[in-house]
Amino acid sequence: MRVAVISDIHANLHALEHVLEAIDSRPPDVLWCLGDLVGYGPRPNEVTEIVRERADLCLVGNHDLGILGRLDLDEFAPDAAASARWTQTVLLDESRAYLESLSPAAEAEGAELFHASPRDPVWEYVLSPEAAHAALDLTKEPLVLVGHSHVALAIMLAGDGLEGDLAPEGTEADLARGRWLLNPGSVGQPRDGDPRAAWLELDLPAGSARFRRVAYPVERTQAEMRERELPEALAERLAHGV
Ligand code: ZN
Repeated sequence: MRVAVISDIHANLHALEHVLEAIDSRPPDVLWCLGDLVGYGPRPNEVTEIVRERADLCLVGNHDLGILGRLDLDEFAPDAAASARWTQTVLLDESRAYLESLSPAAEAEGAELFHASPRDPVWEYVLSPEAAHAALDLTKEPLVLVGHSHVALAIMLAGDGLEGDLAPEGTEADLARGRWLLNPGSVGQPRDGDPRAAWLELDLPAGSARFRRVAYPVERTQAEMRERELPEALAERLAHGV
């Protein structure tokens, strides 16, 4: 079972298309998506449609829930709330219906999947050792997959402690060594200093995980954001991966 894992696409169609092209160069058995299909970016309906067609399993994220009206947008940062309110004005009924059908947590093939974390599948950022430890303590499957922070991570439970760290392009994790917490990073708004779109390739029988990055035309997404008058800071950050 080979699995491609994507997360946090954020309505960035060009990033998604380039990631799918890379994935399709050696097609996996299944494609999993950890949520946040929309919010921030300019192409919410196209991204939702593609993920609906392509993903075998898809979670809902906090931005998706905010746009559906199931989380209070006052809890969001001002630019995130502004882009969410714009998304609400353009989201088609079929996109909304698909997002409404999704859950923020799931289990499949010896993996537990959460948009954010096991402790809080919608909001908690797993970026500290304490949060990573809690995520592994609160789960039992060999593999735990989270998104939400937009930072690629590979962390393993080793005795009472943790091993591992940030997972830049080319990082490989030996899944046979123990229980792992992996974050594939973000397709549409990376925040780990590498502006290229991130995805994760798993080969479950072989016990391997490889972190991948793909360049995409950032300037096309930025131009679409400016046309739609989305907050300039959200367009600018895409060039820097922050
Ligand atoms: Zn996100």
